[in-house]
Amino acid sequence: MPAKAKISKKEREEFRKLLLEKKHSIVRKLSQYYNESKEIETDTALDLVDKAETSYTKEFLLGLTDSEREQLTLIDQALERLQKSEFGLCLICHKEINKKRLKIIPWAPYCIECQEKKEGESKGQ
Ligand SMILES: [Zn+2]
Repeated sequence: MPAKAKISKKEREEFRKLLLEKKHSIVRKLSQYYNESKEIETDTALDLVDKAETSYTKEFLLGLTDSEREQLTLIDQALERLQKSEFGLCLICHKEINKKRLKIIPWAPYCIECQEKKEGESKGQ
């Protein structure tokens, strides 16, 4: 049985908005970084994001911390899942992710159980 998330059109729009807001806040921060280094204008930075869509240039990502970079990737992946109506499903167990969790972390790729399992595994490193 192919897994499809039970998310209404309205909810999908809400999640899309949340994801884009977060994405833009990261990009804005990045624009500030570039403005300070005076290497690139804010408009150019925003332009880069629009054009790059899911693949960003090295220069562009240079202004981000590792966690921001990771978050940006997760946001893009979540937006992609929204388009394919796979949004809200855990990438590991394919069960629905708790909506309360999604409202706080809409880019979450895993349900709480799988996330905890993953975190438990990486703690041993
Ligand atoms: Zn899961």
